[in-house]
Amino acid sequence: MQYVKEIVAFGPRPIGSENHKKVENYILSHLKGDTVEEDSFTIDTPEGKFPVRNILAKFPGTRDGIIVIASHYETNYPLRDTTYIGANDGASSSALLLEIANQLRGSKREGYSVWLLWDDAEESMKLPWFDSESLYGVRHLAQRWQDDGTIKQIKAFLLEDMIGDADLNIEREANSTPWLEDLIYQAATRLGYQSHFFGRTIPIEDDHQPFVERGVPSADLIDLNYGYNNVFHHTTQDTIDKLSPRSLEIVGRVTLETVRMLDKR
Ligand SMILES: [Zn+2]
Repeated sequence: MQYVKEIVAFGPRPIGSENHKKVENYILSHLKGDTVEEDSFTIDTPEGKFPVRNILAKFPGTRDGIIVIASHYETNYPLRDTTYIGANDGASSSALLLEIANQLRGSKREGYSVWLLWDDAEESMKLPWFDSESLYGVRHLAQRWQDDGTIKQIKAFLLEDMIGDADLNIEREANSTPWLEDLIYQAATRLGYQSHFFGRTIPIEDDHQPFVERGVPSADLIDLNYGYNNVFHHTTQDTIDKLSPRSLEIVGRVTLETVRMLDKR
């Protein structure tokens, strides 16, 4: 939760902004000594050209294959001139990945390599959502990994999005891979958190989409019911007081348990 506070303290962080650069550097400052790669490129959008930067931290394992855990970190470009800080949408999951890095660091992984991905330019350039003007970061990376063969090595793509809501209800996301969703539910049940998982099944367009399309087992851990009727989503009310450290802990522990179960599968 401290990391969430620090990320939102930079203010709105849309692509192309100074605050965005500060958050990039903030994430990188937490990954000193780790194997870090950056995937930087420029996108041409109806709103103009923007720099995009995916940040990747690689934690090698003993087994052939990669588990990717991802979160977007920027806030919506259309909300750039407001006080929108995306405490749940972008900051909560990016903070969780920083803590997962802490958990992975320093110990030899007996299992698959884990790559943590802070991806960029997820949000649509126009509200509410336009498929062709969103998911720029992951679309670029999925294509790159398809071209260089990396994609065949990816055993699972786990996406975290909007996971900090104090009233935590992770969806069973209908575009996700059924066996991987089943595994997540098993992990949640083992830890006694199943009441927070899969109360409903709905399809959501999100950063896992380019990987789903390429046949990578993928799951979107997302709680899209953020306030009554999702009223806080993409509004200036998406602030830290709606979040709970316990929700971050639940999703973090279930994610790591899922990784352990994938390692043994
Ligand atoms: Zn969003």
